[in-house]
This record gives sequence, structure tokens and C-alpha cells, in this order.
Amino acid sequence: MSECAIKKVTEISGEEVKKISEWIDTKEYAEKNFAREALVINPAHACQPLGAQLAAYGFEGTLPFVHGSQGCASYYRSTFNRHFREPAPAVSDAMTEDGAVFGGQNNLFEGLENAYTLYKPKMTAIFTSCMPEVIGDDLNAYIKNAKQKELIPADHPTPYANTPSFSGTHIHGYDAMLKAILADLSAGKKAEGKCSGKLNLLPGFDGNVGNLREYKKILAALEIPYVLQADISDTMDSPLDGKYNPYPGGTRLEDAAEIVNAKATISLQKYSTLNTMKWVKAECSGSADVLPLPFGVKKTDQFILKLSELFDKPIPESLKAERGHAVDAMTDAHQYLHNKKFALFGDPDYLLGLVSFLLEMGARPYHILCSRASKKFTKEMQALIDESPYGKGCNIWTNKDLWHLRSLLATDPVDMLIGDTHGKFAARDTNTPHLRVGFPIIDRVNLHRSPIVGYSGAINLLTQIANKFLDIKDDTCEDRFFEMMR
Ligand code: SF4
Repeated sequence: MSECAIKKVTEISGEEVKKISEWIDTKEYAEKNFAREALVINPAHACQPLGAQLAAYGFEGTLPFVHGSQGCASYYRSTFNRHFREPAPAVSDAMTEDGAVFGGQNNLFEGLENAYTLYKPKMTAIFTSCMPEVIGDDLNAYIKNAKQKELIPADHPTPYANTPSFSGTHIHGYDAMLKAILADLSAGKKAEGKCSGKLNLLPGFDGNVGNLREYKKILAALEIPYVLQADISDTMDSPLDGKYNPYPGGTRLEDAAEIVNAKATISLQKYSTLNTMKWVKAECSGSADVLPLPFGVKKTDQFILKLSELFDKPIPESLKAERGHAVDAMTDAHQYLHNKKFALFGDPDYLLGLVSFLLEMGARPYHILCSRASKKFTKEMQALIDESPYGKGCNIWTNKDLWHLRSLLATDPVDMLIGDTHGKFAARDTNTPHLRVGFPIIDRVNLHRSPIVGYSGAINLLTQIANKFLDIKDDTCEDRFFEMMR
């Protein structure tokens, strides 16, 4: 009994803390950690509604509406606010105990009426937190009832998505909300024989507004008419001009609705647009393709060649020159990355992109950790690392969390960790350099404005990685190796 007694923190001696700190870095502890089944410690993902909110931000005049708890809504808002360093407007109908017992219809009625009257959105995108999902609130019926009672106009767009947080991650919530918005806006708009002649580009869940601007730059260079669906580039990075605009930017609703009559739709993130693309294939008249995120030269080539082929456009000299600059920069920097070992964690599409880029650079993506992934993802990742000699011996860890990652870094170390801010604790504990990539990045500035897709993105990414290694060398080398030239 005395062995199991809980000790107050103040009663734990420095010696005991040291002993445990050393023990959690051992292989013996790692084995116990990896045998863990019923507990997740620091997962490398957020919950579904957070993703739904990002999809909602991508549309003109759209107010994200959380049907559920206020605390959950604050979590999504503060995460976006900290990552983008921008206001992140959203409302919640603030369900509490009575809503949990009697259902949240009254909360939704009051919330919708107030939000519509006060904030005058063009569209209200509704999604759920855990509580209404647990009790099984019928959103479809509630919204219909709200319109019948004339709390909001009958023609006000109110796409909704069920985003239960106890399954999936933020990428699944993004997918569900995106599909709901596109289906709602385009309902009844499909016209036989009509073709808008445009490309619909789906960037997927991406917290890097620079990436979205990079896509626009590539499409403009190729002179392809396009609609960037769920375009958060201005919503989440609006100019500071002294005036507050609650709805800057976003895809115009009329443009989004025309997806059903588009010439082509391309998604650049397979796993965060899985259901949206199933809907596109079933409901839209143009071609539908899913391409990998264009990280590195090979995947960017694939993206640009596909665009050129679909729209019968020659590759412009400006893009050819950009490609040449990227190849030049990679050649200049390859010796700093060659054979270096990396650990990576993040969303499936980002991981596939980053691994492809590292293999191109002759680097080894040694630990690849995805905290929720399907067997399909594992197979795809395995095929990718099998393509390159640098993938030999690399390990894929799916459905593992950041506490597992800590054990990996402690017992089988790497030269650098790549992932979002949440990786900083494992990196610090194990003395591993950490490059912030992904979402959220809340302890460094402006990385979300610097593209890492396309040829320019490849240059940015390799510059950040190579210079980090060089900084470490200058900071830590002995005086006799401290050189001007690196
Ligand atoms: S996991 Fe559930 S309770 Fe937690 S923030 Fe997400 S929706 Fe709210």
C-alpha cells in the first residue's frame, strides 16, 4: 500500500527526479512506452472542428459557427489566432449542461438569430464540437426549424458538417466542412453541357498562406483561369491598414458554386479532401485529379505538367527559370543535407511531401510519425521510401503520439526534427534541432507566410534546413574549426 501512495510534488527529491529523467531516455522505458495501448499522450493532431473552421475561413463573408461548447470554440480561435497572428472571428451557441440533457436546439436557434443579426455574414458554416455529437443532435432538422421559424432567412446559406472529435483529426473536419460548403453552394447549379473553362484547385488543410499564393503565382504564369477553393490567403493574412474587416478575402461564393460546371478539379492533398473529392467525382462534370503536395522539384514538375496538359498551355520561361534556380540551389546545398537523418511528424499529405523532398536531397527521413493514419497511407509512404536508396532502414510510425516520438529521439537519435511547435519539448529534452513546419507554429514568426511548395518553396525549405545545420556548427564547433567559409 505504501508503495502506491501518491507523493506530493514537493516531497519528490531532486535525486528521484534525476533518476526518472534518465530512465525515460532508456530503451527499457521506450519498450514500455510503445506497449502503451489505452492512453494517448500529446497527440500530433487537433480535433475535427478546428479543421472545419479553417475550411469555413476560406469562403467570402463566411462566419464559422460552432454548435457546442464555448471552451472548444475558444480553443480553435486561439490556435488560429496564435498561428496566423490575425483575428480569428467565429461564434459558438455555447451549449452547457441543460443543452447536454435536453438537446441543443434552443442554443442553435438563439445563436443563429443573434449571429446573423449582429455579424451579417453571407454564409454561416455550422459544425459541431464533441458534446452535441455525443448526445446525437440532429443539425439538419434544427437548421430547417430555425429557417421555418424565420430566425434567419430561408435562402441564407447554412452548410453544416458533423465533426465528432472522438474520431478522425482536424483534416477530416476540414474535409467534411469543405464538402458541405461546396455541395450547399452548388445545389441545383449544374447545367448540362455548360463548362466554366476554369480549374478548381483544392489546396487542402494548409496553415501556410504563402503556399496558396505560390499556387496562384504558378496558375497566373500558365495563364490558367482558376478558382482556388477555400482560399484563406487573405482571410488569414490581411493587410494592416488601421481598419477592422471581419471578412477579408475568401473564395467568392458564386465562384465556389461553379465547381459543378468546371473544366477540371485538382486536389493537392489526398487525405484532407478524401470525401470532398468523392463528391467532386460524383457530382461535377469536369475531370477530377488528386496530386501530391508539390514539395520539391519532382512533385512540382508533376503539378505543372498536369496543368499544362489539362489546359494545353506551354510551360512559360518564368517557371522554367524558377525550376533552374531550385535545381541550382539544391546542388549548392546538397552536401549539408546529404545522408543526414531526420525525424518528421504531421499530417499525412505534408509528411508525404516532406519525405519526397528529403529523399530528393539525399537525406534520410528516418522516423516518420503520423498520429492518425490509415493503412493506405502506410502503404503509400512505404512505396515512396522504397523508391530511393536513402529510404533504406527508415521507419514509419502510425497511430503514435509525441511521447512515443520522444522515446524515438532519445533512443535512436536523428540530426533534425521537422514538425510543428508541439515537437519542441521532445526536441529540447533530447537535444535535437527542430525545424518548424506544419500547423500550428506558435513560437516562431512569419513561417506561415513563407511558401514551401513549388520551386520557390523548395529553395525556402532547403535554405532553412541547411542554414540551421550551419548555425549549429558555428555555435558549437571548437575554435580551430571555426571557419569563414562553410
Ligand atoms: S476534443 Fe472535443 S471537447 Fe476537446 S476541444 Fe475538441 S470538440 Fe472540444
